[in-house]
Formats: sequence, C-alpha cells, structure tokens
Amino acid sequence: MDPAELKAIVRTIPDFPKPGILFRDITTLIAHGRGFAATIDRLVDRALMADASAVAGIEARGFIFGAAVAARLGIGFIPLRKPGKLPMPTIGVDYQLEYGEARLELDPGAVEDGEKVLLMDDLLATGGTALAAVDLLRQAGARVHHALFVIDLHELKGGHLLREEGLDVQAIMQ
Ligand code: IMP
Repeated sequence: MDPAELKAIVRTIPDFPKPGILFRDITTLIAHGRGFAATIDRLVDRALMADASAVAGIEARGFIFGAAVAARLGIGFIPLRKPGKLPMPTIGVDYQLEYGEARLELDPGAVEDGEKVLLMDDLLATGGTALAAVDLLRQAGARVHHALFVIDLHELKGGHLLREEGLDVQAIMQ
C-alpha cells in the first residue's frame, strides 16, 4: 500500500480532545491488517537508516509502532513512560504541552552509555513531547540522532525544533 492509501485509513476526529482540534486517530490504521503491516514495513525501511541498537517509544501509541519496529529489527525496545508507572528508580523530564504539563520517565539502566537509540512515536505535532524524550534519553547516556514518526503535522513545525537539536526527522505521512 502506498502512503496515500495508508493516510486514507487514518481517521480524523474533529473537536477532540477539545473544540477546534482535529485529532488524527491511528486506531483505524492499526485495526487494518494490511495497512498496519504496510505501515510497519515503511517504518522499518526508515529505521534501518538510524543504525540504532534500541528503539525508544513514547507511551502509549509510540509503544505500538516502536515495539513492532524493534522486533522486526531484532533490537531492544525502551519504554518512555507516563509518571508513576515504572517500578524501579527512574529519571524523568517535565515538559509543557499546549495546555498543561506532562512528564516522561525512564529506567536509567535501560540505556547503555553511548548506545545509539532511535526515538519513535505515532505523531509529531509541536515537537515538545519528542524533545523531552530526547532530553531524557540523553540524560541516561544515549546517543539520539534519529526520530521516526508515523505522522508529522508539518504546519506545527515540530520537525524544525528537533532538527535544531541535531536530529534527523522522518515520518511516513504528512
Ligand atoms: P507534541 O508534543 O505537540 O509534538 O504532540 C505530540 C504528542 O501528542 C504525541 O505523543 C502524540 O501521540 C500526541 N498527539 C498530539 N496530537 C495528536 C493527534 O492528532 N493524534 C494522535 N496523537 C496526537
């Protein structure tokens, strides 16, 4: 399936989570067997370029795509979690969302010093979430040079923010 066909499977829901926001809903994409498989194929092609020894995914939708890609590449998966979910001592980064605050946490032992890690999530919007994730992974000793998304909402300029941090930014749909 080509990118236009895949894009057509993503559902758009108006006024979620608040009025005026067009939410891109990937649940219809992952429910579509051929569409999900083709999405993972395309992500794997891009992920190979990162030459990473692990994939880090952002909770929760980043787990779906990141874990599938890591398994296909035969490399480990590192979950970047919402607060209070991990049972071991963690490190964390607080960051601003458009409305309100959020935090990501990581088991520092999940990353080897100097390890090359590919960051993945379902969607890049303003880039705040991905930037916090990069910061957290780097604090744990990772080298993060590549970020990969299913969808990049180009007009929100998250890609610019990440490229300023020296990242190669890839997505399979705009
Ligand atoms: P950012 O921090 O503004 O780049 O927002 C990206 C984060 O919010 C990602 O973790 C996405 O999963 C989530 N997100 C923002 N907008 C959408 C959307 O339209 N659909 C699905 N996830 C979204």
